[in-house]
Amino acid sequence: MAAAEEDRHLRLTGEFDCDATPLATLRHSTSHVMAQAVKRLFPEVKVAIGPAIEDGFYYDFAKSEPFTPEDLARIEAVMAEIVKANVPFERQEMARADAIAFFEKLGERFKVEILHGIEAPTVSLYKQGDFIDLCRGPHVRATGEIKAFKLLSSSGAYWRGDEKNPMLQRIYGTAWLSQEDLDKYLWRLEEAKKRDHRKLGRELDLFDFYDVAPGAPFWLPNGMILVRELEKFARENLDARGYQEISTPMLVNKRLWEQSGHWELYQDNMFKLEIEGEIFSLKPMNCPEASYVYKRAVRSYRDLPLRFSEMGRDHRNERSGTLTGLVRVRQFTQDDAHIFVRPDQIQDEISALLDLVRMWYKTFELQPSYKLATRPEKYLGTVEQWDAAEASLHEALKANGLAYDLNPGDGAFYGPKIDVDVHDALGRSWQIATIQVDLTMLPERFQLEYIDADGQPKRPVVLHRAIYGSYERFIGILTEHYAGAFPTWLAPVQARVIPISEKFIDYARKVHERLRAARIRAELDDRNEKLGYRIRDAQLRKVPYMLVCGAREAESGTVSLRRRSGDDVGAVAVDRVVADLVHEITAREPGLTVGRS
Ligand SMILES: [Zn+2]
Ligand SMILES: [Zn+2]
Repeated sequence: MAAAEEDRHLRLTGEFDCDATPLATLRHSTSHVMAQAVKRLFPEVKVAIGPAIEDGFYYDFAKSEPFTPEDLARIEAVMAEIVKANVPFERQEMARADAIAFFEKLGERFKVEILHGIEAPTVSLYKQGDFIDLCRGPHVRATGEIKAFKLLSSSGAYWRGDEKNPMLQRIYGTAWLSQEDLDKYLWRLEEAKKRDHRKLGRELDLFDFYDVAPGAPFWLPNGMILVRELEKFARENLDARGYQEISTPMLVNKRLWEQSGHWELYQDNMFKLEIEGEIFSLKPMNCPEASYVYKRAVRSYRDLPLRFSEMGRDHRNERSGTLTGLVRVRQFTQDDAHIFVRPDQIQDEISALLDLVRMWYKTFELQPSYKLATRPEKYLGTVEQWDAAEASLHEALKANGLAYDLNPGDGAFYGPKIDVDVHDALGRSWQIATIQVDLTMLPERFQLEYIDADGQPKRPVVLHRAIYGSYERFIGILTEHYAGAFPTWLAPVQARVIPISEKFIDYARKVHERLRAARIRAELDDRNEKLGYRIRDAQLRKVPYMLVCGAREAESGTVSLRRRSGDDVGAVAVDRVVADLVHEITAREPGLTVGRS
């Protein structure tokens, strides 16, 4: 969204400078007020642009020194005065040449540059009080309508995002229609900081990063349990649905990428190596190689659909400055699949996929929403092929009773697709899954065929799809979604057995053995520490259950059961704990159920 907003401000594309929705208009207007406040406090500063963005707004300023937190507080205070004064936003039009002269006189060189870059003969300016800005609106009527706002942070940003341009100082802020909404948002920000997967990953010993391998995690034993459980979940579900797993090489000769078209369009994102005089690359995706597997036999119409799944380890050369924890990496493992179907099978296969996607995310208590992206301006294949494929996608979504948004023109050049966003516990949305219909890319470039009922060779359609997206990113998202408190089936340690004192170590050891025999990931904490300390430690490690063992428990064959939330369940028979735990883990229950009557 930010890129599109910048574009509107810089090149004056679209009708307005911000979305005409109440929230975007409010945020954009708040950015004007912020610029006014900045000019009042720092008259020497020059202004660049101030778009509304997701959840807020920013404005860029040319200023030699960065803004300090104290500066932000002062700016916020002046903004509050401007809001209180309820100054109207007044529009005026000006010939472009006059506007250039006007902003030149003010020394506002970025505005002048923008004006030189456009063709419109007249432009609009908006004025509130002593501040005037080149802008096409829309705005709120007066500053008094800005009720709930807050400045969040500032950082350096290059003019027009280009490292060759001067570095500007950007201030980010947020604005909402009510104080209540603002408070909720600020809580979410705070909570997101606490849940940051990079922080939790280190604290819970899940994964770590070292500068010898930028953008690639080192998985630690605890994190590897998450990977393995997710793989197991995926494999169980795919095995049951007729997928066949393949694994294809990571290091591939460039000839393959020339054939697939990646060499031409994507090679800047690929890691290349020279081996015995030939160029190879690490695969950035798995599609072309899946075609090799398809092509190694003659396929009949009766063989389709053929579903090849692959845990494909891919590499993409993302710029080091953009790498972020597990959500933006250079090396990742996709839960990929390529499904080869006849054109008449698209709808049923997509329908089955949507059903799988829904079940999949339900397990993690993530709420999915669906977007159907259709034929773009530049496309391969025929309009008839596209229309039929798009109709199948509409029908499949409807058959599943799913509400969905339409993204006209946003399909890939080789076919329409369904993108699936999930909404996490903080209400943030993440795009994870995608189901792409490939009418031409693999089928044509790799000349895929099946022999149809009439004995003639035909082109299959390929469905590309991933549901986790990548294991790395999905685990990053899950870590924040659960705040590190994973459901028991995923938890690296599922239970800790804690003897009250040394006297009960033998009994605790027996309980621990029982759990281990039932394949529950249990630990025995017989450290010479106070009981309270050990309980707190298990809670900090987000271990779902603590089984405390003392005299009464040893006599009656029970444990005193506690949950990581701090709930004290009380005495529960060891047999019951084991049986309930096994059930909870096997059923992949999202909540803690052991000992619940
Ligand atoms: Zn404006
Ligand atoms: Zn693919």
